[in-house]
Amino acid sequence: MRHLLTLLSLLAAASPAAAGLTVFTCEPEWAALAEELGGEQVEVYSATTARQDPHHIQARPSLIAKVRRADLVVCSGAELEVGWLPMLLRQARNPVVLPWRPGHFEASSFIKRLAIPAELDRSEGDLHAAGNPHVHLDPRRVAIIAEALAGRLSERDPDHADHYRRRHEDFARRWQQAIARWEQQAAPLRGVRAVVHHKDWVYLFDWLGMVEAGALEPKPGLPTSPGHLATLKQELERQPAAMILHTAYQSDRAAQRLSAMHGIPVLKLPYTVGGSERAADLFALFDETIERLLAAAR
Ligand SMILES: [Zn+2]
Repeated sequence: MRHLLTLLSLLAAASPAAAGLTVFTCEPEWAALAEELGGEQVEVYSATTARQDPHHIQARPSLIAKVRRADLVVCSGAELEVGWLPMLLRQARNPVVLPWRPGHFEASSFIKRLAIPAELDRSEGDLHAAGNPHVHLDPRRVAIIAEALAGRLSERDPDHADHYRRRHEDFARRWQQAIARWEQQAAPLRGVRAVVHHKDWVYLFDWLGMVEAGALEPKPGLPTSPGHLATLKQELERQPAAMILHTAYQSDRAAQRLSAMHGIPVLKLPYTVGGSERAADLFALFDETIERLLAAAR
């Protein structure tokens, strides 16, 4: 009998404790945040990588299966995933993760969104009709979202509420220290003008006081055109910019063309976690972004 008990306890110790929550995220930044807050209690899967355009992905059967098993779906919202998430949710038939249910978390709903159109019209293109959805590049907003997400993890997994609270306290402390450091480092970026490929950067610019000098896309989601590039070149001759920014998920062709016409450097930034070798977590994402912006602005 004693041997049997020893054997059973050995088996129990050997089998990994089941994770408290299965979290499906739409973008890698929210997977990174869920891992910061959940640690070993969460099993996290991201639908997209930094090299995929989060506006447009295929609603593959493998993704539907992941949503079906999820306890919590974490996405940017504000229509960023409107082209694919509704289809995944419909096909997955997992009622708890449907919008407005406890298993559905929209990061952009917790913060003040920028660039909300004054009137509901799609004249600015089909994307961003609910305001700009690329909310993760302002760490002050990430702090607000982190607090909300920690609360939601506790709600979904109350047995481990203490665990999520402790991890959030630790994250929030390190994050505030990092924000203070980043703001000090990034002071010379205030007023620096940059051309963007897509309006991915409005929250970063809002935080750092940088200025969007134009976008390669004439309207969000529309491809650039020779006429639009010529207009941009004229505008840059009147008011120069220091760099042209694009992400790991965008082709650099339009950026290189404008660079060849106007002679300003092209800068590829990680944009999200996994967008470069170094940007392996949220802290490294901002470290690298600020260092590379500073180097390009010199
Ligand atoms: Zn967008």
